[in-house]
Amino acid sequence: MEYIRLGRSGLEVSKLCFGALTIGPLQRGLSAKEGSLVIRRALELGVNFIDTAELYQTYEPIRLAMQDLQLPRPVIVATKSYAYTRDGMLKSLEDAQKGLGLDVIPVFLLHEQESSHTLRGHWPALEVLWEAKKEGIVQAVGISTHHVQGVLAGAELEGIDVISPLINKTGIGIQGGSREEMLAAISFANAKGKGIYAMKPLGGGHLLASWSEALDYLLDNKEVHSIAVGMKSIEEVESNISYFEGRRDMASPSEISRRLHIDDWCIGCASCVNACPNGALEIQDGMAVVAHPEQCVFCGYCGASCPEFAIKVI
Ligand code: SF4
Ligand code: SF4
Repeated sequence: MEYIRLGRSGLEVSKLCFGALTIGPLQRGLSAKEGSLVIRRALELGVNFIDTAELYQTYEPIRLAMQDLQLPRPVIVATKSYAYTRDGMLKSLEDAQKGLGLDVIPVFLLHEQESSHTLRGHWPALEVLWEAKKEGIVQAVGISTHHVQGVLAGAELEGIDVISPLINKTGIGIQGGSREEMLAAISFANAKGKGIYAMKPLGGGHLLASWSEALDYLLDNKEVHSIAVGMKSIEEVESNISYFEGRRDMASPSEISRRLHIDDWCIGCASCVNACPNGALEIQDGMAVVAHPEQCVFCGYCGASCPEFAIKVI
């Protein structure tokens, strides 16, 4: 496994980052024990970078996976919160420390920033993260974003160490610009010393048919330091690690296509429509429908926003 410095954060991370959204209740819904075994296998095989978020509800399997494991390198966990107030971020920090069983959180990101305007709106939460970094409770502060303007705003802000942008071979899911504009923004952020780790390299599953080309597309881009790949089985972990270690004579990971399921008890409240960053959902005849399936990247945000638990990625 190749290890690389995550920009000026100084943290050294594996090229393959374990994307933990897939094991949690917003997607495959593995038990904490089952999920921990998948993550643990990745750690044993050399992955030392895990991407999660408060929203994903995967702190417990990550904590269990790291328990009593002796590894040659520290595990770098990156988590995210939607908190925008001081108290909200203090709570998010405390929950992450408790949930992950870590006194120090390696990377803490503001979840899903759209532009300099949303960053300004989250300023009290950012100040908490910067204070926590000074106190040694957080090692690096950053943002995740699907938006070109989000990357540019993060790049311009001195206190941002790490950016997790959405980027993939066909540009599916990128907001506010083209794939080329996103690449230019990543390049700009890289030049400013930001650590970059990509999300949605397989477009949330849409690029599975050409998964090796999709991974190569990002592996060939040296401005992307690490790539978060969602994994939910030991077979997928082993397959992805082999690929990242240079084996090219292998079958595709045993990935099962994902889809959105909407139960018939949906009340048409539109909370999911508003939560979807990609405009994939609409309300038709009083119920949510996936009106633009080609725009869905299976992020699971719609499921997290549903008061009736009526929509989820399966
Ligand atoms: S949030 Fe849930 S209940 Fe509301 S429209 Fe969406 S699926 Fe239906
Ligand atoms: S429909 Fe749901 S899973 Fe798909 S992109 Fe929108 S929020 Fe994400």
